[in-house]
Amino acid sequence: MLSKFGNRTAFAEMKDYLYEYLQILFDDFMKKMIIISLFAFLLLPMPALSWDGYTHKILWQTAIKDMDLSGCDKTIVNKILNTAPVLPDRNGDKRNHVCYSTYCPAMDKVNELLTKAKAEKNFCEKMFILGQASHYYADSKSPPHQKLVSNNCHTNFERDAGKYIKNNFTSSVNRKCRNPQDVLTFNRTDFENLVKGIRTEIIEKVI
Ligand SMILES: [Zn+2]
Repeated sequence: MLSKFGNRTAFAEMKDYLYEYLQILFDDFMKKMIIISLFAFLLLPMPALSWDGYTHKILWQTAIKDMDLSGCDKTIVNKILNTAPVLPDRNGDKRNHVCYSTYCPAMDKVNELLTKAKAEKNFCEKMFILGQASHYYADSKSPPHQKLVSNNCHTNFERDAGKYIKNNFTSSVNRKCRNPQDVLTFNRTDFENLVKGIRTEIIEKVI
């Protein structure tokens, strides 16, 4: 049987021990760094997103349900109905979805898209642009996009609103935030007002 140092020199053996020790220290350091960065990430304010994809789609699709899209081919119809209302959340633009009293980039985006839609000659393309505008319009009306509330309250509220619509408007949303003064509510009338707003502030401005 080999002795502890076998045929190797004590120096080589010591070098190995030292290497192993440093390796352990490094692993430990990396583990701590990963945990620290994870916490730092969780503590960062989440970028304001929006209503969930389902809510955006159903608002837009309800607003245009009586419009005739039969002149548009199948691919563009699918883009109008399903891509346009969620596209602004996919293109990396996370800043322009809010509307505070003195700073409302969401409505600036709406106006920018309305101008673009007015200039577009093709009806189907026009509708595709308006679908994107409906996203910013709906986001501008989301209570946590008009007033800063704790992040978990914001996300949970918008998720609950999606579920509420999906469940056919049973038991409206009433979410209390960490700050007791902040209560976010959403009911059927709010939904109908959003649909009405998309019709009057978006579609009728262009078509
Ligand atoms: Zn959004």
